[in-house]
Amino acid sequence: MQRPHVASHLYQPSQSATAGAQQLGHANMYVRPAGVLRASAPEGSRPAATQEFDARANELPSAATDSGRRLKQLVGSADGSESSGQGFRIQEPAAHPGGDQATAEFGSETPESEVEPRQFYSRNRQKGGRLIDRAPLSTADFIGVDDGSASVRFARSSVFSWPSNRLTLQKTRIPLGIVFSPFADGAPGEAAVPNVQCNEPLRCSACGAYANANFRFHSAGYAFDCNFCGTSVRTPDEHQCVLNPATGQRADFDVRPELWCGTVDYVVSDPSYAAVRDEERDSGRPATRDALESDEKTNGVCHLVFVLEVTTRTVSSGALAVALSATRHALSTWSYLDRCRIAIVSFDASVCFYGFENSRITEYIVPDVDDDPFPAVQTQQCFLSRDIAYDVISSIFDRWCVDTPSVLPIKSCLGSALALVQRTVKSVGGKIFCLVSSTPSCGLGSSVSSIPVTSQSSADALSVESSAFFERLGETLALQYMAVDFFVAAEHGRPFDCASTALCVERSGGKVFYFPSFQFQESGDLLGRAWLRSLSAIRGFDAVLRVRTSRGIKVSHVYGHCYFPVSSELEGYMPVADADMALDVTFSVADRKDAVKEAAIQLAVLYTDIQTGQRRVRVHTILPSVTALPNDLFKTADVDAILSISAKQLAAAVVRKSLSVAQARRSLIDRVVDILHGYRKHCVQDSKSSAGQLILPDSLKVLPLFVLGLMKSSAFREATNVDAAGQLAILHALASFQPAFLLEMAHPRIFLLDELPDWAGLPYPPNPYPVVGSLAAQNAGGVSAPFEEPVAWPRSQKCSSQLLTDENALLVMFTALDFTVYIGGNVSAELLQDCFVTTQDGRVLPRGMYDGMSESGVHDAARAQRITSIFERLFALSPYIRRCVVVQKGERAKVAQFVHPNLIEDRITSTGTWSYMEFLQCIHRRILQKIEEERVSFEFNSHDMLNYGF
Ligand SMILES: [Zn+2]
Repeated sequence: MQRPHVASHLYQPSQSATAGAQQLGHANMYVRPAGVLRASAPEGSRPAATQEFDARANELPSAATDSGRRLKQLVGSADGSESSGQGFRIQEPAAHPGGDQATAEFGSETPESEVEPRQFYSRNRQKGGRLIDRAPLSTADFIGVDDGSASVRFARSSVFSWPSNRLTLQKTRIPLGIVFSPFADGAPGEAAVPNVQCNEPLRCSACGAYANANFRFHSAGYAFDCNFCGTSVRTPDEHQCVLNPATGQRADFDVRPELWCGTVDYVVSDPSYAAVRDEERDSGRPATRDALESDEKTNGVCHLVFVLEVTTRTVSSGALAVALSATRHALSTWSYLDRCRIAIVSFDASVCFYGFENSRITEYIVPDVDDDPFPAVQTQQCFLSRDIAYDVISSIFDRWCVDTPSVLPIKSCLGSALALVQRTVKSVGGKIFCLVSSTPSCGLGSSVSSIPVTSQSSADALSVESSAFFERLGETLALQYMAVDFFVAAEHGRPFDCASTALCVERSGGKVFYFPSFQFQESGDLLGRAWLRSLSAIRGFDAVLRVRTSRGIKVSHVYGHCYFPVSSELEGYMPVADADMALDVTFSVADRKDAVKEAAIQLAVLYTDIQTGQRRVRVHTILPSVTALPNDLFKTADVDAILSISAKQLAAAVVRKSLSVAQARRSLIDRVVDILHGYRKHCVQDSKSSAGQLILPDSLKVLPLFVLGLMKSSAFREATNVDAAGQLAILHALASFQPAFLLEMAHPRIFLLDELPDWAGLPYPPNPYPVVGSLAAQNAGGVSAPFEEPVAWPRSQKCSSQLLTDENALLVMFTALDFTVYIGGNVSAELLQDCFVTTQDGRVLPRGMYDGMSESGVHDAARAQRITSIFERLFALSPYIRRCVVVQKGERAKVAQFVHPNLIEDRITSTGTWSYMEFLQCIHRRILQKIEEERVSFEFNSHDMLNYGF
């Protein structure tokens, strides 16, 4: 066996965001941006190329051949009211709708136009139902501005004008919800989240809501009205301040970011904000964390546990070597791990903890994994300092990956290993990184019985039992502030049972990374990347969250990886605050007329910051306008949030086995039809001319395309038997996807590398209006926080098979899960040299996947560097990349398996179902059918009424 080798080329953590937060992280350092925000896009960024066409006519203008007319970006386009009745307007499906720069010019008129600086986007909150600009897609390059309502980087609402009553919402059929990415990293140039130092934050004493831009102070500052519950509350002494008679604002307004920012981090010192540990909850006694090591201050220390399967599968596929090398790399280079305590556990049919006593590595082995209760392992014994952990990892590496034993264990007791870890570390909390390959075959929660399973029903019963075990385990872990990440290196032909085991990840607030048919040669680098990214994504621990809503609005469901112990209470556990995690919350609105007068939604996450060990509360406040008009909902609808909420609802249903994947696909279509039918019925003046046309609101022009893409994506595609396990793993992972990951998955980015414009792969030009940089700079003497502009993407191509007809084409296709390079029949050797690098062990990999880029063999160094930058940026877009494949023209099987699924706009037999045009026609037919059915039933009812003499 060739020895797997993971060098230092692995993913580097992006510390910039957190470093920025620290630099700027003091209260009193902000002034409010005073009306300098340029919220709307400049002239000329309106969507231009729209097509009209009558779906009843058989002659469809082929969007595929009309590549010159492309739609400019949606961002900042005027509201679509004046054009909404004009007929069928298709988002010209040529360019990646979100991948390009906010106002980049597309099209043949100005093919090589200079790339423009990134645009600012602000929600531009307006009271009284005024419209706001549409948010850029989550995959677009923009600079988000916090203007009192949290930036779309952190919270995307499915509509930015909220309905004032249930009827308005029902008419639109849009799911009402918010996708929170509470710890998302900001884009370069975005202001860091302001820190507010206080003993206890300013809050409403009646409902607990945190201060926000709509708290109304009165009585000379001694009291305020809460915008959540409407109560008039006395201002606590710590926060007393007089009002400025000229403005009516508090005199300290400018230095209190919580009064004008949608997102703030409170640094709290009051003991009531400390983490409540399990034993404290149970017994009322204080937690034992401080007793853990009396001579060391353990509060604010993060605990990491690496749980590694050491069986023949993980050892011979190279997965174990990758995980160990990646861990060792992090331990040797990342300074923030100084603050961490690390435990290492390996398991096969038994479980082994590693300790350190008398300057020697000690192993504590629990051999009998079926025999619960297990002998206890002392918490103190197994948590190691960074240096010792490095030595332990090295010794495991030598033992398994260098002097590989000739006989390797086969059985795995995943359930028992995790249960043991849970009991051992329950007093400290933290994060578990778990490398697995085999479905548990012994110990607790194993789904393979020692008694031969005789029938399908007994196999099902076993799997139900196993699911229940892992679900309970996840809940227990969550309550102890432990999250588990699964890194599944699945063996070819022997799928890993995600159906039951991943429930433990879901409940504890972790992530699932799944590598189908894992082999070191192909996926080793990607596993290493995912491992390190997950390690570097930790922003805090001991986290609990709470959602608050203003009157008339209620939380109806929370989708995502977290645990709400009492479903009626809105306090949930998401033990580890993670930069890559998202949470979808859906809401219902009360029935009465004008039930919602003022909408406000707040997500508060109480956590311990990993960099500083401080106890903090991150608060995101969303303050949408309110309207009674369905049309306003459509105008401000956010396609990203709608897609995310729908996908997660259906994924949850499939995972819970209440829907099949095929039913989920049908349900996706139903949703699009319902929404567009709602628009047609309530917002379009039906006239003769529009009767036969499919009419889409401007804000949702790309919804059908994205839904079609989602249906053809690896999550909802029709899967073969072998693939089904992988599909289930994706559906599990999807529940915590941020909107950008989901959109990348639904709509692949495709770049043509043989026609690279000369600006692609170079940083965007600096913005002439550095609004956000100056926000911090205004206080720090005019010096803005340094940042580098991200590199500009090449133009995105339409996901159509026409691309494959060009013999010179060198295509890179990217979804959040797969990275595919397609090489046409006649690609120059020079270009290939600039795109690929040969590794020491003779593998050919895309540049940028490998840090140790060799200059040798490069044809055009500048081009190679630009391509490297583009690839690096692609690899940094998603933590979930599981495959990197290079396909050459003529490799028919590979083209069908890896290339065709990305061409979502065409009908390709291997991916089944519709082309984009056919899909639009199908939706249109269904809408017409619905209108017809309603008309008939209305006439029938009227007829009935006449008969009864009404
Ligand atoms: Zn209140």
